[in-house]
Amino acid sequence: MLRPYAFGAGFMPELPEVETVARGLQKSIAGRRIVSVRLGKTDFIDDPAALEQHLPGRQIESVERYGKFMLLRLSARGNAAGELENEDADAASLLVHLGMTGQLAPCAAAQPCAKHTHVWFELDDGRELRYTDPRRFGRMAYLTGALLAEELTLFGADPLLVSAEEFASCIRSRNAQIKALLLDQSVLRGVGNIYADESLWRAKIHPMRRGTELSKKQAQVLRRVLQDVLRKAITARGSSISDFLDAEGQPGEYQRHHRAYGREGKRCYRCGATIQRMIVAGRSSYFCPKCQPSPRVRKKGKRRGRVRNG
Ligand SMILES: [Zn+2]
Repeated sequence: MLRPYAFGAGFMPELPEVETVARGLQKSIAGRRIVSVRLGKTDFIDDPAALEQHLPGRQIESVERYGKFMLLRLSARGNAAGELENEDADAASLLVHLGMTGQLAPCAAAQPCAKHTHVWFELDDGRELRYTDPRRFGRMAYLTGALLAEELTLFGADPLLVSAEEFASCIRSRNAQIKALLLDQSVLRGVGNIYADESLWRAKIHPMRRGTELSKKQAQVLRRVLQDVLRKAITARGSSISDFLDAEGQPGEYQRHHRAYGREGKRCYRCGATIQRMIVAGRSSYFCPKCQPSPRVRKKGKRRGRVRNG
């Protein structure tokens, strides 16, 4: 039995957690056909009627991650209904963002419904794919080819696929703080608070440094450690901050590798200084004041760095 995912309070799933969920769903529901759709509360759905109208009869061809979204790629309709309506002739996607408390998981149709279940997709194998979301900060949208393409152009490069040149140019051409740039989904898609802090700690870059202040070398290092952190976090099936559970009901493991995030007042694993927390880009940011000197401190340090470190 596939158990639903559960995110901890205040925790927004990021690239590794969404990738973990998407891979679980790819294994469990790809190839299944949606028989019918039933909706409860719909305030997180772009156009609820479109789901009821266009999803029945369609096959879920694959489940992919796009940034922090999941895309359920749907077949063209027609074979099941016997007749092809024009608007359903094209492949389409169901876009799902889990928000903070969303869960999407299949279960036996006979299984009692969890509280806050808002969407039921009846599948052709007797199971139901259910969406449960107490806070409803998620989003669900049925998007056809053109609309989907339009939606996806709003997002920047995937951090796991971005080239060194592209990464350096999109970071170093912007004057915003690096923490804000990492969180900006139009610059890079999929990075959130946890993995931004973790990669900045590893790259020894203060979260308030400006993109334009980073050297080419620093941008290269940041890209490398960001990719490394994300890949390792995917392997560890994400981070469990409170009660995040993966497809098999197992908690993620990556929180054991956190070096900055959530470690305020604890010792830096690298230098022993005390990890601090400050608000940058409107978010709690954890960093080591010694390893990641602020821009101002760094200038002073540069002048007498040798002496102090010697
Ligand atoms: Zn340190």
